Amino acid sequence: MSEALPGVPSVPPSGPPRDASAVILFRRVVGGVEVFWLEREAKLAFAGGFFAFPGGKVDKTDGSFIVAAAREVFEETGVLFVRETVAQSRLDALRREVLDEKIEFNAMLKRESLTLRAEAFHEAGRWITPPYLPRGFDARFFLAEAPSDQHASVWKGELADGAWITPADALKRWEAGTALLHPPNLHAIRCMNAFVDVPSAARALSNAPFLTSGFIAERIEFQRGVMLFPLQTPTLPPATHTSCYVLGTGECIVIDPGSPDDAEVDRLVAFLEQLKPEGLKPIAIVLTHHHGDHLGGVERLVKRTGLPVWAHARTADRCPVPVARLLSDGEVIELNGPLKMKWDVLHTPGHARGHLTFVDQATRAAIVGDMVAGIGTIVIDPPEGEMAEYLKQLARLNDLPVRTIYPAHGPVLPDGPAKLHEYAMHRAWREAKVLEAIESFGAAGAELSDVVPKAYDDVASFIWPIAERNTVAIVEKLANEKKIVLSGTRVTKR
Ligand SMILES: [Zn+2]
Repeated sequence: MSEALPGVPSVPPSGPPRDASAVILFRRVVGGVEVFWLEREAKLAFAGGFFAFPGGKVDKTDGSFIVAAAREVFEETGVLFVRETVAQSRLDALRREVLDEKIEFNAMLKRESLTLRAEAFHEAGRWITPPYLPRGFDARFFLAEAPSDQHASVWKGELADGAWITPADALKRWEAGTALLHPPNLHAIRCMNAFVDVPSAARALSNAPFLTSGFIAERIEFQRGVMLFPLQTPTLPPATHTSCYVLGTGECIVIDPGSPDDAEVDRLVAFLEQLKPEGLKPIAIVLTHHHGDHLGGVERLVKRTGLPVWAHARTADRCPVPVARLLSDGEVIELNGPLKMKWDVLHTPGHARGHLTFVDQATRAAIVGDMVAGIGTIVIDPPEGEMAEYLKQLARLNDLPVRTIYPAHGPVLPDGPAKLHEYAMHRAWREAKVLEAIESFGAAGAELSDVVPKAYDDVASFIWPIAERNTVAIVEKLANEKKIVLSGTRVTKR
């Protein structure tokens, strides 16, 4: 949401990343190769709604990254890398047994007297999940050619779908915003698009550009022309980062350089420099709204780059640097480049009076600032915040509709409308709880601070100071709708 609030303890970061394996499964076809990719169910906590290669965390019983890789491929696609030939019906039965946890993968191989073809797995890079995401994996990638006598197929469950696809077609879908890719998977598909032979492909896969010495991707482009650059910011827990976005494939805009830390802004400047050889040229800094965790680095970024700042008038009046262009609802930001982009500007007040949302005309991707969060919650804090207006703007985004939602905090949300619906339902439920809490005090009424523990009995008490701000927003809405009486901080049922 906004600045960190006093009295709110920070949430300790989650544990160290967990070991994981992933397999770039491929087969040769006329004119090149095809890879087998999977669409992850949107509701999954990690990478839900994204396309990925078979893989998952290393189990204790696996004993090695390669065994984990072989097991994951078997569970998710049915392809078993063993020396022996196994009939399809037998493979299906064994897969069912392993998936149902009737037997461990290694134990199954032993019982069936099958020998794993470990040499079929070629090392193809290492990637560690960036710290801005709530779940961390330390993943080893392997390149493996599918045995020609076996059939890859997905059994629905945690995977929505899976299919063989040429790397060129996969890249087209990524460009259209209909197949979101995490950096390792985008890199893999690009490498496989240039496939000549296994050794050179494995080499290219292991030498990813924009990878730190800590194996963390510095370039995150879930769809073409939408780059995410997480910056550490003093924001509201459990979020620890603000996602700065760089939009465009030629001309670029930089949205929400939120970190007040000079070193973080300098890291962003270095990133923008690295993009220049590809023809990416920033033309402006754009702000979604005035909160510190969104414009904290704007002064430094202007000083370092000389870029002009664009924002809504109600953000400009609280911006520490002059705003060169005032943006208002209905405008279009056109960005020239190999993939020309047109971003619709929407004025979406409610969280902040000058809040803007940007929607790509071609893919309906939406940069939503603090309208929706991938992690934590959005606080509507009066008098800046206005609940009825906020709900109206959420509904507007839903009606467009938007597709992928890119929030300022937490993971990207591939199914935008589902998230917006969830928000609307949750807000309505909370409003009902607040109304019910007020009514429980009868004709005497109550102080707002007494309403909060009842209306928010489902959250930890350290959240209540923030919840009280939201409650003010809700009671103001209820009072305007003549459902309660509000005088000062006292509320009474009607
Ligand atoms: Zn905010």
